[in-house]
Amino acid sequence: MDIFANKMINTLLKGVLFVCLIVIAFFNTSITTHGEESMFPEAPIFIDGQAHNTKYLLKDGNLMVPALFLKHTSAKVDWNEKYNSVVFTLDDDYFAIPIGTRFADSYFSDTNEWKRDFLSTPTIEVSQEVFVPLIDVVKKLGMKVEYNQTLNRTFVYTQKERTSTRIYSGNPSKKLVALTFDDGPEAHYTPQILDILKEKGVPATFFVMGKQVKKFPDMMRRIVEEGHGLANHTYTHPSLPTISTSEVIKEIRTTEQEIERTVGRRPDLFRPPFGAVTWSDERVIAELGFRTIMWTVDTLDWTGLPAENILEIVHRDITPGGIILQHNIEINPELLAGSVEALPMIIDDLRSKGYTFVTVQTLLDNR
Ligand SMILES: [Zn+2]
Repeated sequence: MDIFANKMINTLLKGVLFVCLIVIAFFNTSITTHGEESMFPEAPIFIDGQAHNTKYLLKDGNLMVPALFLKHTSAKVDWNEKYNSVVFTLDDDYFAIPIGTRFADSYFSDTNEWKRDFLSTPTIEVSQEVFVPLIDVVKKLGMKVEYNQTLNRTFVYTQKERTSTRIYSGNPSKKLVALTFDDGPEAHYTPQILDILKEKGVPATFFVMGKQVKKFPDMMRRIVEEGHGLANHTYTHPSLPTISTSEVIKEIRTTEQEIERTVGRRPDLFRPPFGAVTWSDERVIAELGFRTIMWTVDTLDWTGLPAENILEIVHRDITPGGIILQHNIEINPELLAGSVEALPMIIDDLRSKGYTFVTVQTLLDNR
């Protein structure tokens, strides 16, 4: 080996070492920078036997969880700015816990009375998040809670009957299928998708975001003029479990208003962003008069999959009454190129297998 090669290897090794150091340094910094976000440990809490992961902290021996976690028990959770308190509502009764205090004021609708009682430990705000003592709050909601020392697990029993309102598919004995496009309308993919649907004579359902409807009213009108179905997909696309009940209502209502203002329609179909809902959100959506629409085929098109992979997924997962999840959003210019390319092939392929394309509305009418 000559000196030159030796020198090369040396430099190379130094380079590798340098890169390693940078990676380590970056990793260390990223741990410290993100330290604040992940300063809480996480654990599952079982609600009616179902595990829900949550961050938590221990204070004076009490298990504290984010107030919003209680939405999994079906309770509504809100903030009262004026009194700086968190408000839990279950059916007609509610109670407010001022942040930083050790008491809760409860209102009972049947007797029209207020009652104050004390908590094991004050409700606290940490990193802009309100933590409440889980056991106290669950008991105040009239539910049972149990800590199993052997398993080191906490079990909550709501003693309420859970009827899920989520709809995943239509009638399995009819060969109907619904194409659904989320997150639009916009100006890049929506027109391409509409052109294909028009050429093929296929109706689809667009789960629109309020802010997109406001930004692209003409595209919204085109969707309706070309005979497609509409559904509500919130105004700003938040994950519903992370926002208060009032915010959930606002997201849905403002979108409903925007759709009605633009095309004069009030669709009663709703799809939660990321498919994420708590039991409480499900109840609220139903109370607002909406049906929660999920899907049976997730094309994963938003991950930038090429057309052939999307086709494979549709092939694998399609069933009569199926609902196919696709998107129309331009996060980066080529993101949905595969999805758009796959669309005419999906249509031809499923038609050759005897499927008829309908809107989600028609799919549900045929249940
Ligand atoms: Zn979405």
